[in-house]
Parts: sequence; C-alpha cells; structure tokens
Amino acid sequence: EAAVTLEDVRKTYQVGEPVHALDGVSLEIPRGSYTAVMGPSGSGKSTLMNLIGCLDTPTEGSVVVNDQDVTTIGDRKRTKIRGEEIGFVFQTFNLMPRLNARENVALPMVFRGVDRTERREHAADVLDSVGLGDRLGHLPNELSGGQRQRVAIARALVNDPAILLADEPTGNLDTETGAQIMGLFEDLYNRGNTILMVTHERDIAEHAERIIHLLDGEIEEIEELSGVGV
Ligand code: ADP
Ligand code: ADP
Repeated sequence: EAAVTLEDVRKTYQVGEPVHALDGVSLEIPRGSYTAVMGPSGSGKSTLMNLIGCLDTPTEGSVVVNDQDVTTIGDRKRTKIRGEEIGFVFQTFNLMPRLNARENVALPMVFRGVDRTERREHAADVLDSVGLGDRLGHLPNELSGGQRQRVAIARALVNDPAILLADEPTGNLDTETGAQIMGLFEDLYNRGNTILMVTHERDIAEHAERIIHLLDGEIEEIEELSGVGV
C-alpha cells in the first residue's frame, strides 16, 4: 500500500522562459519505506517535496497522499491534509523560540483541536520516544543542535503523519550529531514510519532503502540499497 503516489507529475514555472521543475515524474512511496532523494541543485528536489507536502500543486498529473488526491481538492482541505498527514523536518529546525520543547511539539495538535491535557501528555510521550523525555521544559536555545532537531522530528511525528518529509535533516549538524539523527530515523523506520529525505550527502542517503536520483526534473535512476542503516 502506498503512502504517496505521483502520476506523471509536471510542474512548470513560467517566469519568462518556462522552466520544467518536474517533467513527468511517476513514483510510489510505500507505507513504511525509507527513501532518499538526491540530485544537483535545480534538479527539482524542493519542488518534489513541496508537492508531496501539499505546499504546492502540480501543473499536470496527480499527487495522492494517504489515498486522497490532493490535486483535485480545495486549498482548505489541502491545508488540513498537510497538517494531519505530513510531518515536515527542516535543516533549520524552525522551532518557536519562546515555546519550550513540549509546547513546540504540542503545536500541531492545537490546530487539530486536541484538548490540552491530551496534548501535554502526548507531546511528552513523543519527546520521550526521541530521547528527550528529560528536556520537556527547555527552550530551543537551551538545547544543542541535535536536541533541537529531535524536537523538530517529534513535532513532525506528533499527528502520526502518513509521511515524514525531511529536507537536509543533518545539514546543520556536525558529523557525530548527524549520525545520531540517522540512528533516530532508523528507529522510526523500524517502528513503521514512512520517511522521505532530501540530502546531498551520499553517506546520509545510504541510510535509506532506496535513493531517487533526480536530474533536470526527471527521475534519472532509482537505486535500491541492500541494508538499511549499514
Ligand atoms: P532543487 O531543490 O533540486 O535545487 P528546485 O525544485 O528548487 O530544485 O528547482 C527546480 C527548478 O525550478 C529550478 O530550475 C528552479 O530555478 C525552478 N524553480 C523552483 N521554484 C521556482 C519558482 N517559485 N519560480 C520559478 N522557478 C522556480
Ligand atoms: P531549501 O530547500 O532552499 O533549503 P527550505 O528547506 O528552507 O529551502 O524550505 C523548503 C520549502 O519548504 C520551501 O518551499 C519553503 O517555503 C517551505 N517551508 C519552509 N519552512 C516551512 C514551514 N515551517 N512550514 C511550511 N513550509 C515551509
């Protein structure tokens, strides 16, 4: 069963000469799979992530997230799907500086209307599952880079999304901290989460099950890797 399916997706930007950011991409991301996306600058990686993340819609073709075709629905419904089915993790963490770890993680549940007690409890549970059970009350600037990224990952997971989208999740971290985050992704994968990450580092990409290589808006190759985390 697919978490996300793209069928013949095209995204064309018309600023003077048209640019085909994605030029006929078909792709199935199975539930529980771990995929990396690589490709040179301008190959369409961000465009792909934005389309799967329901931040943008394709010029042609369809994007199906958790059995819902997000290209034919309205903006409102798409925003709802983005909030409930997509977990975003960014290189820059994007945490709210005045909210502590628990409050940052609880935020996506506020938009879903979960009551306060349940929000607090669930946020604490998810932080515990990423190894931050003893940092609930810390503000982002009281945490290390790796801990901030863990908070961002916990926040991305808190609504139990169909897919976790990670854009250079280790990009701002030193090698050792990056390796810890990859260890955490491996745990998440082993627990059944679906992960799609963009990275320009081959070593990082090799933690996934497969690497999608993009070139000029097309899939150049899908490389199947032998073991996860090796
Ligand atoms: P990558 O993430 O691999 O660097 P992008 O998806 O950001 O690639 O970009 C793919 C192509 O689409 C590039 O040629 C880029 O210039 C173009 N592009 C991306 N976003 C826009 C936009 N908002 N307006 C016009 N062109 C864009
Ligand atoms: P880049 O790929 O150039 O490093 P970013 O990782 O900052 O860019 O962002 C990737 C895409 O996600 C951009 O299109 C950006 O607008 C969008 N984005 C960034 N932060 C958020 C956020 N907190 N919520 C939703 N979308 C975001």
